[in-house]
Amino acid sequence: MRKLAITKLNDLFAAIAESEKLYIPVDGKTGANYELWAEGKTLSDALNTVRSPKDFFFPQTEDMMAFKTEGKKIEIIDTREECEDFVIFGVRACDVRSFAVLDNVFLSDPVDSYYKNRRDHGLIMSMACTRPAETCFCKTFGIDAADPEGDIVCWRVQGFLYMDAKTEKGAALLDKLASITEEADSDVIAEEKALIRARMEKLPLASLTTDAFGPGKTDTFFDSPEWKSLSESCLGCGTCTFVCPTCQCYDIRDFKTNNGVIRYRCWDSCMYSEFTKMSAGQPRLTQVERFRQRFMHKLVYYPERYNGLYSCVGCGRCLAKCPIQMNIAKVMKTLGGKAND
Ligand code: SF4
Ligand code: SF4
Repeated sequence: MRKLAITKLNDLFAAIAESEKLYIPVDGKTGANYELWAEGKTLSDALNTVRSPKDFFFPQTEDMMAFKTEGKKIEIIDTREECEDFVIFGVRACDVRSFAVLDNVFLSDPVDSYYKNRRDHGLIMSMACTRPAETCFCKTFGIDAADPEGDIVCWRVQGFLYMDAKTEKGAALLDKLASITEEADSDVIAEEKALIRARMEKLPLASLTTDAFGPGKTDTFFDSPEWKSLSESCLGCGTCTFVCPTCQCYDIRDFKTNNGVIRYRCWDSCMYSEFTKMSAGQPRLTQVERFRQRFMHKLVYYPERYNGLYSCVGCGRCLAKCPIQMNIAKVMKTLGGKAND
């Protein structure tokens, strides 16, 4: 375990950025978001970023390939480039778990080489949540905000940043930072973890559980009459899916340029009326069906396919951003979970 005075955070960032691109949460007009660190940029005090860090591995839009045509000849151009190593600093426990959710989808056979390229080059410096927000419920999904996963786990305690390497990659980076950090006692962290866990217990959604959900529950919930009232006011705006760190649906489209065609993919949303529309028709004609799909996928279908892992990490972004205050916690409470109101 290493530590560094918070007043020297800039030195830490500068030392990391000497060899790798470093991204940190920075305050902006609409809240905190990840930005490439440069001299003068300071770490946000916000609990979490507005946009999740899934953008680093699964960006909102990306070119997949390009085509050039000349008469009947078609040239296919591979637009992929080898990604450079990069570090993401300050990722919260919920968002670190979201990478595991995305990995199951993108790294299963057939492996998505676009995603893998970025994932192989990214190093995660996670941050324990000293002051979790009222919208947080990561504990519901077995995530420990006091002890996140990641290559290097960080805690802010008593004016110091404590750092513990959890992977070889993380240990190698901490070794490189040895000259500006000092050896630290882990007892302080044990106390900090206990404090954070006690705070988590006091949050409004602390008692929300997944007990009613999980593999094999399709028949229990699919025809539930509750879907109608839950989805009634849904605008189908897709905000919940775009801020969600685990939503991974995308569309692939062709864009005609002066020189040919660029094939790109972009995020899509199961809440949109044209989602997965095919020439044979539209599989989900109503908003009730689309709404149900989003939550059944997160709470039943995904855990059924991936060993009980839920595809919600309780980050609370959809609780904060939905314009009609609908969210997965309300769905869970209505359909069978239990929580303090
Ligand atoms: S953010 Fe709210 S209104 Fe918009 S699609 Fe999601 S649940 Fe519906
Ligand atoms: S469904 Fe909501 S709370 Fe769950 S991971 Fe997505 S944005 Fe976060």
